[in-house]
Amino acid sequence: MSLPNKTITIDCDGVLSATAESILTYNHHTIKWISADINDITNHRFHMIPKFWLTIDEAKDLWYRFYEQSSHENLFPEPGAIHAVRDLKEQWYRLIVVTARVDAWKDQTLEWLEYYFPDMFDDVVFTNDLTSSAKKKWRVSSRLWASLHIDDHIDYAECTCNYVVPTFLFTKPWNRVYTVKNPLMTRVQWWKEVLVHMA
Ligand SMILES: [Mg+2]
Repeated sequence: MSLPNKTITIDCDGVLSATAESILTYNHHTIKWISADINDITNHRFHMIPKFWLTIDEAKDLWYRFYEQSSHENLFPEPGAIHAVRDLKEQWYRLIVVTARVDAWKDQTLEWLEYYFPDMFDDVVFTNDLTSSAKKKWRVSSRLWASLHIDDHIDYAECTCNYVVPTFLFTKPWNRVYTVKNPLMTRVQWWKEVLVHMA
């Protein structure tokens, strides 16, 4: 795959960090007292997973409580992410994290990125999703002239493709049933597949 320029925008949760897996571990593999494993997480929006019957507030609380406590000790990187990101950095790619996280989690996020990915990212953009100051991820990627975006969220991946940014969609239980239609979108299962496509 040859890229016209060297900028790659990369999502954080589900791509750099194994956030859903870490939330499950943090909650002893239960959600609302019901046993849960990663294959149960069939929707990004936990309140829309039929198995758990969460309200929107309960779902938010699950994420927020975890983010408030999260650190390098309980939020783990995705397998292979550290090696792959380092490899891309050594190939002189400009790597920018574009996360839907809100500014309130900026300190924890930057600390976490610096712990696992020291000096590997050129910038970190918080799009403050679902707030009044939200920015669109796809606008950020296209304005940065990104040649590639990497995400695990179907909606974001579709939109970056619509903005003509080729996108790798990380296959996860919450996007597994989605059928890729846009030729600019490529499914990847592991970080090493990213490197294979980039070779
Ligand atoms: Mg994500």
